[in-house]
Amino acid sequence: MAVPGKVAAFRLPPLPKVGEIIKLFRLKAQKQLSQNFLLDLRLTDKLVRQAGELKNAYVCEVGPGPGGITRSILSAGVEQLLLIEKDIRFIPGLKMLSEAAPGKVRIVHGDILTYNMEKAFPNHLKKNWEDEPPDIHIIGNLPFSVSTPLIIRWLENVSKKDGPFIYGRTQMTLTFQKEVAERLTANPGGKQRSRLSIMSQHLCSVENCFIIPGQAFVPQPEVDVAVVHFTPLVQPKIQQPFKLVEKVVRSVFQFRRKYCFRGIETLFPESGRLKRTEQLMMTANVDPTLRPSQLSMSQFRNLCNTYRKMCDEDPGLFVYNYREELRLKKRAHLLISNSQPEETE
Ligand code: SAM
Repeated sequence: MAVPGKVAAFRLPPLPKVGEIIKLFRLKAQKQLSQNFLLDLRLTDKLVRQAGELKNAYVCEVGPGPGGITRSILSAGVEQLLLIEKDIRFIPGLKMLSEAAPGKVRIVHGDILTYNMEKAFPNHLKKNWEDEPPDIHIIGNLPFSVSTPLIIRWLENVSKKDGPFIYGRTQMTLTFQKEVAERLTANPGGKQRSRLSIMSQHLCSVENCFIIPGQAFVPQPEVDVAVVHFTPLVQPKIQQPFKLVEKVVRSVFQFRRKYCFRGIETLFPESGRLKRTEQLMMTANVDPTLRPSQLSMSQFRNLCNTYRKMCDEDPGLFVYNYREELRLKKRAHLLISNSQPEETE
């Protein structure tokens, strides 16, 4: 669990308010880019406190926009702040903040989806994976269309210990649509238990910190927002490659209202499907009549370990794709029906 840190370890010189910066640089939020700004500094302080102690830390803020969260991070007394912002309109306002905290801020006009985080921080900050997390934090309030694919990518980086995790167990404090945060943190049996719950919780300790009501943003989004904190685990709960875990978990949740064997079946080609599904479920000790949301983490671990053994014995199995088989079957069926001679009288 993140230990909430202090804000206001460093006093910024007097600056125009964030709202005034928006007016000064004409930074109207672009709805089509899902830009919603957080201007209330009490809330940005609260968000930043969820990251833990930031005094002398190295922080990367993704999508700083007009800089509300940025101010709170600087006030926490960080050593270095790297800002990655895609929309060029925000760069002049961010430069103004950078001048108020000389030598602390680096601004990158770029896309976090393509930015190479492996060289973002000094080498001396690297920690062994088993040690305490490094003094490096990622913080951000990104559009939801970016934050969900990004967390999947960063979870894969956690499992490979690369990207931002080349420095060790780098912690992340990020915002998500409230329902996505509920999925990220859902327990077995919970309504929101899903692929995201397993993928995030097998690699990280995940904490749903607090909800920011939609009204707190300008303009107001249609949904509420949750702040989620991630700390990579020393030992993943499922010790198999990310892609294998993803395939098993995706298959299980494919038919989320049905018994779990229905999704698990789709891991196997049609010929021998029933026998191999039974073999997998029996060896993994999973009751086939459980619903996907009822499966525990250790049951997912058993399924992944057993499926891995089956893949090792049959090297063609892992590349088998249920949807592709369905598509080919449909096409063959269509070709046959089109080649039937038309009936004549
Ligand atoms: N963090 C600011 C706040 O809380 O007021 C702005 C939040 S706004 C929802 C999202 C910000 O992320 C915008 O400034 C947008 O330009 C930026 N952004 C969107 N996609 C991005 C990407 N792929 N890489 C970096 N920045 C991005």
